Amino acid sequence: MTQTEESLLKQKIAYFSMEIALSNGIHTYSGGLGVLAGDTIRSSADLNIPLVAVTLVSKKGYFRQELTSEGRQIEHPDPWDPSQFMKQLPEEVTVQIQGRDVRVKAWLYLFKSAIGGVVPVYFLDTDVEGNSSEDREITSFLYGGDERYRIKQEIVLGIGGVRMLEKLGIDVRKYHMNEGHSSFLALELLRKHDINANKVRNLCIFTTHTPVEAGHDKFSYDLVREVLGEFIPFDILRSLGGQDRLNMTLLALNLSNYVNGVAKRHRMVSKEMFPGYEIRAITNGIHSYTWTCESFKRLYDKYLPGWAHEPELLARVEIIPDNEIWQAHMEAKRNLIDYVNSATNAGMDYDTLTIGFARRATEYKRHTLLFSDIERLKKVNRKGRIQLIFAGKAHPKDEMGKRLIQQIFNYKEILKDEIKVAYLENYDMDLAAKLVSGVDVWLNTPLPPMEASGTSGMKAAHNGVINFSVLDGWWIEGWIEGVTGWAIGPEPGEHFSTEKRRTMELEDLYGKLEYVIIPLYYKRRDEWIRIMKNSIGKIACHFNSHRMMHRYVTEAYL
Ligand SMILES: *Cc1c(COP(=O)(O)O)cnc(C)c1O
Repeated sequence: MTQTEESLLKQKIAYFSMEIALSNGIHTYSGGLGVLAGDTIRSSADLNIPLVAVTLVSKKGYFRQELTSEGRQIEHPDPWDPSQFMKQLPEEVTVQIQGRDVRVKAWLYLFKSAIGGVVPVYFLDTDVEGNSSEDREITSFLYGGDERYRIKQEIVLGIGGVRMLEKLGIDVRKYHMNEGHSSFLALELLRKHDINANKVRNLCIFTTHTPVEAGHDKFSYDLVREVLGEFIPFDILRSLGGQDRLNMTLLALNLSNYVNGVAKRHRMVSKEMFPGYEIRAITNGIHSYTWTCESFKRLYDKYLPGWAHEPELLARVEIIPDNEIWQAHMEAKRNLIDYVNSATNAGMDYDTLTIGFARRATEYKRHTLLFSDIERLKKVNRKGRIQLIFAGKAHPKDEMGKRLIQQIFNYKEILKDEIKVAYLENYDMDLAAKLVSGVDVWLNTPLPPMEASGTSGMKAAHNGVINFSVLDGWWIEGWIEGVTGWAIGPEPGEHFSTEKRRTMELEDLYGKLEYVIIPLYYKRRDEWIRIMKNSIGKIACHFNSHRMMHRYVTEAYL
């Protein structure tokens, strides 16, 4: 081997993410972005991709959700102890925040694949001796505090992260920013490379996840000046990050040669939002082995050995007998229903058509769309019984999201003599795994085009759970009507007024439940199982993070 070849082999992809969901005990995630980062790491380890990851230690977690009997959300700190999972490294770097030196240390977690690969994950921590008590809190709460707190966290993640990797002697081939939270890493590189933006662009990859203007992190230049100082000359910063405010997405766009959205539709939406930038699409996936429940794992092991490493094999699901698919599903369903009944006294049963809906409680996800017409919903239920299971946390500052949860508790009361409704507390990875495998139908009703990709429906498909979803994000690519699941509302190319769209959505929601889904479930079980199998054979085989990482490697990393 030549020396260049050897050094190439030692080079790493450095993957930066504000949140990473590695396991339920490591409380450094809030939702889909973190789960995607976790699945990226899991697939990279399986596939032996030379990747290292950087995030914040978030020692007090996101929050633990308690719900009162009226559905009021109470937020508790959700601390975890890094020393139970990982080792603190002796290396220390500093970053300047509000004119002071803040010391940053790192915890090293080695994510080990069951088949041998390893991905090191560095959790940055400012709770270090010598820091002021205020600075020691910078890495405490994920998405906590105000704008000032957020910009401090992003300085630690981006600038502290690059410095830490350098200090550890890691030879970085490319820096991958998972969302704009880590864009300051590109500024640090700019400073290192004498403000040569071309050099920096060759080093940076940016994945955007936010299809709406308001969702992008933006900081006033007064705040930037105060907290970050004149890190690079302000006229240059303004030309890269926006004239009026520092837009972290714009900064990443201007300093990355490879930029992608997380679904084909999301790419188009991003291109409209940021005209003039070349934006590609790598549709998200989920880690097949992590998100497949025990009963389906056994089934796939028996009929499709090697499926976890080569999820393409799931396309051969046809060779699994129908009754074994149904048995595997019923095992997962009993697990879930038992859990729901013990957690909520809902009194649900195993044989009723069970519809699941779990996601961050925020306005665009429209948790309550199904309850828009209560009389119609009751009529649907008279055609064939349904029961409904919900979950999801609202961000502590999202009053609308909290109201949605309370409204569902209200509907639960209103419907209690006819339809059983449960709202489960504290949605996390473990609860997600139970839900996406144990329900019969996975419902998704975001307001287009707000769902950049969505991933929980992919998890459902891996467990033979059928998607019933608005055509947005990944579902536009996974959906074949009546074959892989069902659509709610108009196709993406069609434009309608808000009013008209809603009418069409409700018509599909109630109409398809009453005339298609319920009759199929109760009267034509063989056809139902066919769609379950198609969810596995036509969705899970493609919408997995192994396929996703193959694309990142060949298109962005190499
Ligand atoms: C998969 C997952 C998500 C993301 O689901 P979406 O469908 O993208 O909203 C959020 N939270 C948890 C805990 C998950 O496991």
